[in-house]
Amino acid sequence: MEPILFLAHTEPDGTLAHSALESLAAAISLGGPLTVGVVGAAVDATARQIASCGAVRFLVVEGEAFAQSRYSTDAEAVEALCRAAGPSLILAPHTARWARAIPGVAARLNGRADTHATGIAIVNEVPAITRWFYRQRMEAVLTRSPRPWFVLLESGCAAAWNGSAGEVEIERLEVATGPRSRVTGVRAPQTGEETIRPEAKLLFVAGAGWTKKQTDGASHGERAEQLILGFLHGSHASLGSSKSLVDQSGEGQSVLKCLTHLNQVGQTGSTPRHPKGLSTCCHGEEPHVVGWRFITERRAINLDANCGWARGKADVVYIADAFEVMEQVNRLLAH
Ligand SMILES: Cc1cc2nc3c(=O)[nH]c(=O)nc-3n(C[C@H](O)[C@H](O)[C@H](O)COP(=O)(O)OP(=O)(O)OC[C@H]3O[C@@H](n4cnc5c(N)ncnc54)[C@H](O)[C@@H]3O)c2cc1C
Repeated sequence: MEPILFLAHTEPDGTLAHSALESLAAAISLGGPLTVGVVGAAVDATARQIASCGAVRFLVVEGEAFAQSRYSTDAEAVEALCRAAGPSLILAPHTARWARAIPGVAARLNGRADTHATGIAIVNEVPAITRWFYRQRMEAVLTRSPRPWFVLLESGCAAAWNGSAGEVEIERLEVATGPRSRVTGVRAPQTGEETIRPEAKLLFVAGAGWTKKQTDGASHGERAEQLILGFLHGSHASLGSSKSLVDQSGEGQSVLKCLTHLNQVGQTGSTPRHPKGLSTCCHGEEPHVVGWRFITERRAINLDANCGWARGKADVVYIADAFEVMEQVNRLLAH
């Protein structure tokens, strides 16, 4: 098997993210000689965290300059790690930071990079990755002959490595960094609280029904928002939405302020991976068929017993008023 470099960057608290541990497990499963490469402000704790992973070398690029996600410094660091380790296959978690820096490094080293891989395995004695195309409708198995080959693995596709911590011998690489930009703050579209939680056990999907006129002839957007946020606080679920609901802000209708287009699931939204899903007030084909196709156990609450997509795609459908159900659920969660 070819020599492998597992690449990780530290989180602000100095540890590795769950998605990095998943990529590490995928790298180990290939069985080749493994080198670990870590980039961050301080990496000792990170190296200790994965000390027993079986890597033959632990290479690090450390320093304040590598604390922030920044193309120039990240690319310098990754290039140095690759030149020192000499791998033919490089595996890294598909974080925003690596997605920005790694394709450029692949170009510098005359290699190739594949992003959004959902798995990697040895097929006919060569590494092969799986990747979805056309909005998750077709899955391809890809191999490549040029090396080095950089593969960014999506989270949620492998069980995370969970070996024990220990002591390791670290090789520190000196990387000179030139003048660089500085991140002074982050402006995100989400102005309220963070409702997208990729590692949550449950995805709660809100549909446009939450803002529609109810049996009393009025709509209750504010109440809907309280119920949804109350549920998120109590359950720590992640919040998804149908397109109709997030689009309403553009039409000047009653909107849920906690939602942005980033919450949208479906054909033109995201396809998150959570063990469980609960769709509420949602009828659409795209959210049900594409949006939560990777959700393992699915339930829906809809007033309409004939809602074909909820019936067809959910394991359990509650024919009920979501306002009443979530009110009750929140009361139970509060206890
Ligand atoms: C090219 C294309 C791409 C698209 N991509 C996406 C996409 O990525 N994601 C997406 O979501 N949509 C997408 N759509 C839109 C999609 O087809 C649907 O129009 C949309 O998903 C419908 O949203 P909805 O189910 O929230 O709203 P509606 O269709 O209005 O359904 C509202 C539901 O709420 C129920 N309801 C109302 N009040 C209550 C209550 N008190 N309790 C319980 N239930 C209640 C109603 O019975 C109804 O079933 C796309 C469309 C096109 C053409």
